[in-house]
Amino acid sequence: MAYLTLEKLRKAYGKHVVIPEIDLELEAGEFVCLVGPSGSGKSTLLRMIAGLESISGGRVTVAGADITGTDPSDRDMAMVFQSYALYPHMTVRDNMSFALRMRNEDKALIQERVAEAVEMLDLHGLEDRKPSALSGGQRQRVAMGRCIVRKPKLFLFDEPLSNLDAKLRTATRHQIRRLHDQLGATSIFVTHDQVEAMTMADRIALLDHGEVMQIGTPQELYLNPKNRFTAGFLGSPE
Ligand code: ADP
Ligand code: MG
Repeated sequence: MAYLTLEKLRKAYGKHVVIPEIDLELEAGEFVCLVGPSGSGKSTLLRMIAGLESISGGRVTVAGADITGTDPSDRDMAMVFQSYALYPHMTVRDNMSFALRMRNEDKALIQERVAEAVEMLDLHGLEDRKPSALSGGQRQRVAMGRCIVRKPKLFLFDEPLSNLDAKLRTATRHQIRRLHDQLGATSIFVTHDQVEAMTMADRIALLDHGEVMQIGTPQELYLNPKNRFTAGFLGSPE
């Protein structure tokens, strides 16, 4: 059974149809990169899955349960954005533990989860710093840490690496994929970087005007692009 299922998912802003109808299934543990031109509906799609945007039709199921009407805070998922809004007055540790403290989780559990996140994200020695004393890459890792302490099963990444320089992007890319594997999570990762998609994804989905033009493994898409759009986007021989 698929872990995440989108059935006839639709989004319109008034008369402006952004996503006519999308059907998509992700297997548990899959890492799917979502690529496509600016304005093709990638962020809208993620926001609908997260419950941050109302849907105009269709439904979303996770592990067999219909979550279409579920409150965003009750969805077992995390969304990671390009701009990481950390609390400037809080230390790295307090930023990371925030969600668990809000839920009045046990102190020992909070400590353990933060320690785990620090380990996974290689943030040793930075726990007592404020965000202003961190580099861009470190801040993005703290933002990831804020999500992983909750141990969500589904990650929605919206171009999280766009603000980083090329070298850091490569390193963080590997780190994110490793985290996904370690946590046994299922992920959708939006990127406009084709190399990123080719190296990170189990499957790549190509979106244009709110429609999935093609979905498949990086090899499938590269070697057998169904149309000019796919070929053009991935730079494959057509
Ligand atoms: P992408 O992330 O692929 O660049 P978006 O999902 O941000 O695309 O946007 C898809 C389309 O939806 C665009 O045409 C955009 O103008 C439109 N759109 C996004 N948010 C809104 C909104 N709040 N109101 C009206 N139109 C919107
Ligand atoms: Mg976007």
